[in-house]
Amino acid sequence: MKSAVFLDRDGTINIEKDYLFQIKDFEFVDGAVEAIRLLNRAGLFVVVVTNQSGVARGYYTEEDVENLHRHIAAELKVSGAHIDAWFYCPHHHSGRGSYALPCKCRKPLPGMLLEAARVYDIDLQKSTMIGDKSADIEAGISAGCRSILVRTGYGAEEEKNIGSETVVADDLLSAVKSLLV
Ligand SMILES: [Zn+2]
Repeated sequence: MKSAVFLDRDGTINIEKDYLFQIKDFEFVDGAVEAIRLLNRAGLFVVVVTNQSGVARGYYTEEDVENLHRHIAAELKVSGAHIDAWFYCPHHHSGRGSYALPCKCRKPLPGMLLEAARVYDIDLQKSTMIGDKSADIEAGISAGCRSILVRTGYGAEEEKNIGSETVVADDLLSAVKSLLV
């Protein structure tokens, strides 16, 4: 079984912007590319798990999400880094049509982590969730993973809402370095 690192996207890998979907608005958090490259080199399986309720809310489409992910993958490739698997939740309870589900994948529920574990044979007890929101930390804990909160994105505000047992790091690169020591 594999050890994985689950990464939140907005506010963790890239600078938080409300309902980001356009390539021109995408900006990596400083050090994020290096962090992902270090995870790749360490042989850890890197999985993005991101809530994208903008789809349910009608702000953008699943195709937009997938286009942006292709762009991120291409940018990472230039720097010799890669994401092994991408999961996103397009749902929201107050969303439109078929997206208005009480789903099991929207964080803080652990559905995306559990699905990734099933598909890719990941040992959740030997895996870590890194994100900037308490929903990320809760999803990680529910899945049986270690969790690290980063202070980028909403993390600096969220720090007071999480338990004192949760590890906090300044950003993704420092979170990854703390994992790899
Ligand atoms: Zn969902």
